[in-house]
Amino acid sequence: MSNPHLQTELPGPNARALIARDAEVISPSYPRDYPFVMSHGRGTEVWDVDGNRFLDFAAGIAVCSTGHAHPQVVAAVTDAASKFLHISSDYWHEQMVGLGERLARIAPMGEPAMSFLCQSGTEAVEAAIKLARYVTGRSRFIGFLGGFHGRTMGSLSFTSSKYTQQKGFNATMPGVTHVPYPNRYRPLFAGNDQGAAVLDYIRMLFERSVPPSDVAAILVEPIQGEGGYVVPPDGFLAGLRALCDQHGILLIFDEVQSGIGRTGRMFASQHWGVSPDIMTLAKGMGSGLPIGAMVAKKRLMSQWKRGAHGNTYGGNPITCAAANATIDLVEGGMVGNAATVGAHFTSALHDLARDFPCIGDVRGKGLMIGMELIETDGSPARALCDAVITRAFHNGLLLLSCGTSTVRFMPPLDVKREEVDEAMALLRTSLQEAMVLSG
Ligand code: PLP
Repeated sequence: MSNPHLQTELPGPNARALIARDAEVISPSYPRDYPFVMSHGRGTEVWDVDGNRFLDFAAGIAVCSTGHAHPQVVAAVTDAASKFLHISSDYWHEQMVGLGERLARIAPMGEPAMSFLCQSGTEAVEAAIKLARYVTGRSRFIGFLGGFHGRTMGSLSFTSSKYTQQKGFNATMPGVTHVPYPNRYRPLFAGNDQGAAVLDYIRMLFERSVPPSDVAAILVEPIQGEGGYVVPPDGFLAGLRALCDQHGILLIFDEVQSGIGRTGRMFASQHWGVSPDIMTLAKGMGSGLPIGAMVAKKRLMSQWKRGAHGNTYGGNPITCAAANATIDLVEGGMVGNAATVGAHFTSALHDLARDFPCIGDVRGKGLMIGMELIETDGSPARALCDAVITRAFHNGLLLLSCGTSTVRFMPPLDVKREEVDEAMALLRTSLQEAMVLSG
């Protein structure tokens, strides 16, 4: 075994036993491809039940933003749990109000903002859709091909990546028109400016088939996540903002994956200085506890009448405590680390790409980085991608793909430079092995 941190073949005996028990009782719909059975974690390191140590560059799909079991988050959660575990959102408590204040302070709306709290990204998106319909009185929407916004019926109506897993559900919410997301590496339109071409396409839709006066909102990921970690060209989000302003349409940024420091700015939209009307958050916001938020301009949110939307667990004290500690840690240094270590990581991946022609593109911002693999010597890119991730697992590095031929890297925001260097060495070995296997 080339990695000294691995004690057994993978999966080891303890892992195999637990996986066998799981197969009897847990839904097979979870796509669990790599037999990693976790025992505990600390920062970017995780150990399995057989004592094998891995570097976690998947971080619970970008959820474990402050790393595993960050002491400050654990202390905040423990303190909150020792006081009370739940009180319905019919009452007030410090953790919830404190979180609302933090979100209002950091929200990139450029004007006062308010939050609706929930437990997940998909619920934050549902809330955003409902608010947009409520305040505009309109019912149509524009979403993006390759977009991922969740799996409940409203959010699923916008989700178009991973379509093969979802097509068994037939039509979802009517009135959602999907348009291409500008992709410079895989351009759909002629010409150099894919962003301008997509904006023209939306204008054409507005003229021909989707009256803009029927459109409540455009829902977009400022950096596409599950769709392949696609970074839009400069000017694209600003163009969407201008189109929305022209037609009284709301602009919703889904920052469930890109928000709270992941891209080296608090919110991905801040790379381009474009403000949304509504923003959705979840994942990294709670360092692992299930929390989401729909943050909107106060002048929109305040129109919601009593009971217009609600939930039982929104504002739970423990999840709010985790989110407060997370935001404090991210603001207190991790967002800067994501920018600097992310730049180091990206440049190392570009170096790697010079040695491996199967790496077609490296893209991303901060610690939201994608590496798109392409077909070389007849080995299909998707199979190569799966092989790289499998070999990485067997070499002690946890990675995920976007369900396509793009490997994505989303380690904790406080990952160290040395951990990136160690991961790069494991990745190089894994690429070499994968090419032999799939070649
Ligand atoms: N929006 C985006 C951009 C996401 O990446 C995801 C999940 O990957 C969601 C929404 C859905 O979040 P959840 O799985 O918490 O419902």
